[in-house]
Amino acid sequence: MVTTHNLGFPRIGRNRELKFALEKYWKGGISESALSDIAADLRVRHWQDQSILDWIPVGDFSLYDHVLDMSFMLGNIPERVSTFSTSGTIDNYFRVARGRSASDIAAHSCVNAGEMTKWFDTNYHYIVPEFNRNTKFSLDVSGLLEQIQHARKIHQQIKPVILGPVTYLWLGKSKDGSDKLDRLDDLLGVYAQLLDQLKHAGIQWVQIDEPILVMELAQEWKYAVRKTYYQLQAASVNLMLTTYFGQLQDNLQLACELPVQGLHLDAVTAYDEIDKVIDWLPGHKVLSLGVVNGRNIWKTDLTQTLNWLEPVYSRLQDRLWLAPSCSLLHVPVDLDSEHKLDTDIRSWLAFAAQKLNEIEILANALNHGRESVAEILRENSAAVTSRKQSKRVHHVDIKARTQEINESMGIRQSSYDQRSVLQRKQFRLPLFPTTTIGSFPQTLEIRQTRRDFREGKLPEAEYRQAMRKEIEFCVREQEALGLDVLVHGEPERNDMVEYFGEQLGGFAFTQFGWVQSYGSRCVKPPIIYGDVSHSHAMTTEWIEYAQSLTRKPMKGMLTGPVTMLNWSFVRDDQPRAQTCMQLALAIRDEVLALERAGIKIIQIDEAAMREGLPLRKSQWNDYLDWAIRAFRVTANGVKDATQIHTHMCYSEFNDIMEAIARMDADVITIETSRSDMELLDAFDQFRYPNEIGPGVYDIHSPNIPSVDSIIELMEKAAQRIPVERLWVNPDCGLKTRTWEEVKPALHNMIAASRHLARHL
Ligand code: GLN
Ligand code: ZN
Repeated sequence: MVTTHNLGFPRIGRNRELKFALEKYWKGGISESALSDIAADLRVRHWQDQSILDWIPVGDFSLYDHVLDMSFMLGNIPERVSTFSTSGTIDNYFRVARGRSASDIAAHSCVNAGEMTKWFDTNYHYIVPEFNRNTKFSLDVSGLLEQIQHARKIHQQIKPVILGPVTYLWLGKSKDGSDKLDRLDDLLGVYAQLLDQLKHAGIQWVQIDEPILVMELAQEWKYAVRKTYYQLQAASVNLMLTTYFGQLQDNLQLACELPVQGLHLDAVTAYDEIDKVIDWLPGHKVLSLGVVNGRNIWKTDLTQTLNWLEPVYSRLQDRLWLAPSCSLLHVPVDLDSEHKLDTDIRSWLAFAAQKLNEIEILANALNHGRESVAEILRENSAAVTSRKQSKRVHHVDIKARTQEINESMGIRQSSYDQRSVLQRKQFRLPLFPTTTIGSFPQTLEIRQTRRDFREGKLPEAEYRQAMRKEIEFCVREQEALGLDVLVHGEPERNDMVEYFGEQLGGFAFTQFGWVQSYGSRCVKPPIIYGDVSHSHAMTTEWIEYAQSLTRKPMKGMLTGPVTMLNWSFVRDDQPRAQTCMQLALAIRDEVLALERAGIKIIQIDEAAMREGLPLRKSQWNDYLDWAIRAFRVTANGVKDATQIHTHMCYSEFNDIMEAIARMDADVITIETSRSDMELLDAFDQFRYPNEIGPGVYDIHSPNIPSVDSIIELMEKAAQRIPVERLWVNPDCGLKTRTWEEVKPALHNMIAASRHLARHL
């Protein structure tokens, strides 16, 4: 018989119960015990939802982040926080997560939050563990043991989930330059205790996640993996070593040889390795295959999966386990919540609950023959075929247009040097020109107006009038402040991807398809289900209106193709690159529409360009090739006199500088203020040829930057970049700030720019 299990379930709740509970708790609106009750209820509910499986996970739930949970379980709590000994663990937990607990806010005793960074190549973010040469670990497994007790009341076979020690170390950061790997021995001592305690609690299988096995590992890390599992085998509890998000490649043999009782392989991305793993895996080990995609929302083609799975099953027999490819953390909870989705599209989808059903069906088909699930298989095939053949997915004309993309579409008419002469003559901007990144404060009133319009409570004409009023207000404020290049403020946009997706062909939107990004923050990624098309101008009306109000240049604002792709659930029936090129053509149409409407500066945001980098460096060039090509097709069809801006809000450019330069945007605005301009070194060393606007203040903070601090930063910038190629702007859009914060901040920014223009 094949065995079924799950690697992890979404925590946030189908109605985002966890999010709302957390936010109430942080505001002091509910007590700690009320928060714990809500969390416990969610866990119970989720275990029940997973009960159709043989083994259900315990310990995958988290109030904020599972890596932070691990740090607390291992007693690795930053010193700056552990001195708050008077309050409870939960407060310290939130201090590391967010820099403050509810009680700190009144007492003004905030601490620095732990750094947050992306979890592998997903849009989930974890709190980075901190190490130094004095880091000591001490086990606190009470929380997990309690959950085990609870889960046992609901399901017989439960499998604790923990992050493996090597991945835990790898994800963390040494704060004093000491080698993280020097902590391994200590760490293994605590993991051994942990496994021992689980064993004593009657646990048979422990899931131990080592996703770093899908990455390129230096020798010492491979050695660490080997050493770890040789030492942990003493614990005499069965370990299911899980890898996901990619292929094992040169770690395959290592993974197969480790002295553990089971290995989990992401059979979606590492499909090609299954045979090799079966060959290598010793006969007493279990192989868990992640056959259902945990990173996407498409129904699995069950018949096709069975076609290749049946021979695997006849080789492995009882040694075969089935699971989703990775934790279901990365997909929405339940398709049953969706009542407004188009019925065709809905029939093609599977969220977490449906994916577990698929596992169950596949197991039934293997255990009892396909006949036992014949009806379900038929329905599944019908849905899969309908998607394959649907006219809503496939448009010959769009495919043809994508095929016709040629090199010259991505090349500007003249080089930057020539363009810049034209542009300077046309715009007559001062030295250190000032601009903003696009959005201005999204007040409650603006949000309410958009909501009313969306819900049909506000007639369209009135909605448009309200947005125009807001745009006019933004323009007047910017003129009063004295900015050089203005923006319309983006009041009509709920989100930089959704706004465009809703108007393009090929996109669908869910009502409740929330996915955790970090802590209580969730995103609702659009679904790109079909060929992407541009049928009407999406922004010209607003931008033209804004331009009509001022003689200063008005920047048209767009979101780039790579960001649209990376922040959506994308098709699995064609390469990402192809979907990206379709997006590029659609946004290119909008760029040209803006140009025709007389807009002379167009900004194309690529906030998520870096996020799409593959986990293995050896695959970076391939990604960057098509991603940059997509940007170029989007942006570079304009006349020389039209100035293209792009914006990226992160601060690592070193290793992608060459690609950034290839985009050939006239101006790039980037987030830099927190790096003290050091990241401009990359641009300097590369001799980046075009213009740069390094962000001069952090928009995440309510603090008002002083004139001097901005001057100081820009002087540092000027040491690296010739002054005539520097712009002055905030790090990112201002939508989360208030006007009371924005006005003095921009006032100081402009004063600094004027001072620099006079004195540098
Ligand atoms: N133009 C967008 C804004 O200002 C850019 C947002 C982003 O880079 N994340 O809001
Ligand atoms: Zn940004």
